[in-house]
Amino acid sequence: MTSSTDFKNLTQGKMIYEGKAKRLYETDDPGRTIIEYKDSFTAFNGEKKAEMSGKGRLNNLISSFIFEFLAKNGVTMHFLGRLDDLRQAAVRVKIFPLEVVLRNITTGSLCKRLGVEEGMKLPRPLIEFYYKDDALGDPIVTEDHALLFGWADEDEISLIKNVTLRVNQLLKDLLAPLGVVLVDFKLEFGKDASGRLLLADEISPDTCRFWDSSTGDKLDKDRFRKDLGNVLGAYEEIWRRLSGGNK
Ligand code: UDP
Repeated sequence: MTSSTDFKNLTQGKMIYEGKAKRLYETDDPGRTIIEYKDSFTAFNGEKKAEMSGKGRLNNLISSFIFEFLAKNGVTMHFLGRLDDLRQAAVRVKIFPLEVVLRNITTGSLCKRLGVEEGMKLPRPLIEFYYKDDALGDPIVTEDHALLFGWADEDEISLIKNVTLRVNQLLKDLLAPLGVVLVDFKLEFGKDASGRLLLADEISPDTCRFWDSSTGDKLDKDRFRKDLGNVLGAYEEIWRRLSGGNK
C-alpha cells in the first residue's frame, strides 16, 4: 500500500473507464486510480462534440488548484495530487449516481425548465439532484427518489448537501477577489473502500459557470455550448486569475 504522500510513485495500469472528458486508469494500488484529462468538449448529453488541444491541461490545472484549496480548508476528497499536465492521482471510489448542482444565480436548465428569468440572484443557494443516466438524459430527481431507490441514504444526502454548501462558500470567497462570480456548479461524490464519503470528479470551467464580475462575460463551457467563441481563452483566463498570473 502507498501512503498519502507517495501518490507520485503509482504505476499506471490498464484503462478502467473512458468518459466524455476523462479517462480512468488502474494503478498498482487497488485503492488508487489515475485520472487523465482529455482535450474533448461535449455538451447536450454528448450531441455536440469538439476537440481542442490544451483543454485537458487547463482543466487539470484548474481542477487540481481548486481541489488543493478545498483540501486545505478541510474538504475530504478523492484527489491526492496532480501528477503532470494531464493526470491526477485519486482514491478509487464508487460514484453515487447523482449529480449535485448548486445554483447562486438563475440560468441554464433551471430557466428553461421553470421559465424563470435569467441572471436572478437567488436569496440562498439552491441545491438540485440529477440522476446520472446518459440514456435518460440525467433527469432531475428529488431527495426522496434518491432515498427510495437506494442511490444514497439519509446521512449521505445530508453530508452531500453540507459539503456542497461549504464548497460553494469557499469557492465564492476564492473567486470574488479574482473578479469571478460563481453562478452555479455540479459536484459528484463517491465512497472509498472503507465507506468514507468523498468529493470526487472535477471542478473546472466544464462543471461550473463563472461570470466576469465587471463585464458579465462567460468564462466557462457556456462559450462552447452557445458558440460564443474564444472557448480556450476563457479557460486560460480562469487559470491566469487562479494562479495569480503565473501560468
Ligand atoms: N453541469 C455539469 N454536467 C452536466 C450538467 C450540468 O457539469 O451534465 C453543470 C453546468 O456546467 C452548470 C451546472 O451544472 O455549471 C448547472 O447546469 P444546468 O442544469 O443549468 O444545465 P445545462 O444548462 O448546462 O444543460
